[in-house]
Amino acid sequence: MKILSTKKYSPPIRSKLKNFQAYGSARSFYQEGLFMDANENPLGNVISTKYGTELNRYPDPLSMDLRKALEKFLSISEKNIFVGNGSDEIIDLLIRLFVEQDEEIIILEPTYGMYKVVAEIAGVNVKSLLLKTNFQIDVPNLLSQINSKTKIIFLCSPNNPTGNLIRLEDVEKICRSFNGIVVVDEAYIEFSSKPSLVGKVSSIENLVILRTFSKAWGLAGIRVGYAVAQETVIEYLNKIKLPYNLNKISSRLATEALKNKEKMLEFRKIILGEREKLANSLTDLGFKVFPSEANFLLVNYPNASDITKKLALNYAIIIRDFSSKPLLKDCVRISVGTPEQNELLIKSLNKIIWKIKQK
Ligand code: PMP
Repeated sequence: MKILSTKKYSPPIRSKLKNFQAYGSARSFYQEGLFMDANENPLGNVISTKYGTELNRYPDPLSMDLRKALEKFLSISEKNIFVGNGSDEIIDLLIRLFVEQDEEIIILEPTYGMYKVVAEIAGVNVKSLLLKTNFQIDVPNLLSQINSKTKIIFLCSPNNPTGNLIRLEDVEKICRSFNGIVVVDEAYIEFSSKPSLVGKVSSIENLVILRTFSKAWGLAGIRVGYAVAQETVIEYLNKIKLPYNLNKISSRLATEALKNKEKMLEFRKIILGEREKLANSLTDLGFKVFPSEANFLLVNYPNASDITKKLALNYAIIIRDFSSKPLLKDCVRISVGTPEQNELLIKSLNKIIWKIKQK
């Protein structure tokens, strides 16, 4: 294993959670035996499912089977892996674990919207800085904005919705210059040309990497994400999460998915091929297409917002309008579809643009 237990790191946990007594769920005390401790239904469940006969019992609160499978997959100890109900759950838990009410997170916009939303719901402050016009981080400016109240910096790489990777040197410099937590959200990393930074967690103590089964693995519907971090961070996450955050079916399916890496790589190959074809077709139509390391394209066109509405209303094709976001005037984000879907999109855009040009 690359990462071994590194208990000496003491993360900046919220003061009230430092000695927090976690809820002791039934299955955290005994995992085997005749279960008469959790008020489950001993007769079974009311439906027959292909997922086995054990659904009347609560799942393992620590999702050990899935974490062991991830340990093997990532070559990183399960002690350094937390699994959640989508990576969204983990974003929420990280903010609640580290940030007090009068403290703040830093986000670099435009980026994934949930960091801000989750922070606002938790009642903590959000310092929103802008990426540079090339969508990279203005590192000196970011470092100058850090103060004693800053607890988490959220980086997203490849960044949603801009599609670019954040430079490794920048991530390393930010981690070195900041004693809070640096989260690198790698939801789209499987589509990128660079490897994940999960291996960096062994040498960078304050780094937390987020990954998900929702994108390249094609399992958005089962809601499974994971974090790779120092063992003490994982222990605290396990303490503050809801007792059974991951259900049995989802953990079983995610465990199964890891045995099908070849299929994921096959999907990846198709999506990357389609991404390039789609980028070329959109460029031919007059769109400015930003380089992408993800399974979507950020594109710019005059009145793109209007085109987005026409696509939805007249052709029932839904793309995402980002034109009101900072740095993204006239920008929309298009998820790469199947060859047929992409072709339909291009045909429909062609018609819309032709009509606009007739006016
Ligand atoms: N991070 C980023 C950058 C995302 O774009 C998304 C989903 N769109 C998520 C996290 C959430 O992923 P999950 O489905 O694992 O909650």
